[in-house]
Amino acid sequence: MGFLLKPEVFDGVLKELGQTYRLYAPVRKKGEGRYTDVDVVRYDFVQSAGEIELEAKSDYAFKEFLTPLSQTLFFFTENEVKEADIDEKPVLIFLRSCDMHALKRLDHMYLENGSEKDPFYERLRDQVKFVLIGCSHSYEDCFCVDMGSNETKEGYVFSVDFVDGEYRCKVLDDEIAKVFSEADCPKADVEPLFVKENDVHVEIPDDIPLSIYKNELWDEYSVRCVNCGRCTIVCPTCTCYTMQDVFYTDNGKVGERRRVAGSCMIDGYTTVAGGGQYRRTNGERMRFKVLHKISDFKKRAGYQMCVGCGRCDMVCPEYISFSACINKVNDAVRKEAGNE
Ligand code: SF4
Ligand code: SF4
Repeated sequence: MGFLLKPEVFDGVLKELGQTYRLYAPVRKKGEGRYTDVDVVRYDFVQSAGEIELEAKSDYAFKEFLTPLSQTLFFFTENEVKEADIDEKPVLIFLRSCDMHALKRLDHMYLENGSEKDPFYERLRDQVKFVLIGCSHSYEDCFCVDMGSNETKEGYVFSVDFVDGEYRCKVLDDEIAKVFSEADCPKADVEPLFVKENDVHVEIPDDIPLSIYKNELWDEYSVRCVNCGRCTIVCPTCTCYTMQDVFYTDNGKVGERRRVAGSCMIDGYTTVAGGGQYRRTNGERMRFKVLHKISDFKKRAGYQMCVGCGRCDMVCPEYISFSACINKVNDAVRKEAGNE
């Protein structure tokens, strides 16, 4: 079922939905980017349609609701443990097709990776429904088409595209369709917009031999990468975290446990007892990250982890391109196989 809505009508629909849901969407934060007078687009709770950034691609991913940078899991005293409360009001998250595909990766990591589901992820996940933001064009660093994440057929409650001054929405959820039906807007055949072509292309070898670990292509990243970890913080499919216990008292018996974002790109991530580190150079860390995204994960899950959103390229202070690195891996594998 599709609808065409004037801006004030779409705003009214969101206000009505806001009675039931919290709305979590990309928002343009003026002047809060990395440099003076530069904006950043990141997720936040909104109250109205005008606050949502539908044109620019978000610099940060929607995952910050499901996997917050810092999340208190529980509080403890000498004899008791109490799980942290959460806001029980359901949430509508606005996101693009590549991020819908990223959601599948997050679900795999937190709900299907091992014998137990992660309860702290699951209770947030159970609160959430998704609104698909259409893509009328590709963005500078996107390679979603080659990663197969440019289109989404299901899993969202409605889609939204802003075209020629009106919002075009395809509604898949019956309850939400009632809200649209009661609004002053005509019905129409609507399909979300998807890109069919990106400027950036990647080629991933079907089989990446273990010898790639010793390839000299990684050396470049030991020089260029400054292990800031930004690429993993913005990545919608990165899931690594670490634990912190925060003590309120000197005796260490009262406090809280937090889960905080971790990154395989930063110093200390692989430090073990005795001071050993499995990956000391930034090139080794880049190798681990890249091969996890385009090889290791697929061996277990059956599909690639990277969805080609290009955010890691956008945020890297050293202009390191993930897609360029994928193609370097492809070239190296072909060369080793004697195809070039
Ligand atoms: S590795 Fe880069 S391009 Fe791939 S999903 Fe993560 S941020 Fe997006
Ligand atoms: S954002 Fe760039 S410099 Fe920072 S860790 Fe990632 S690849 Fe290295």
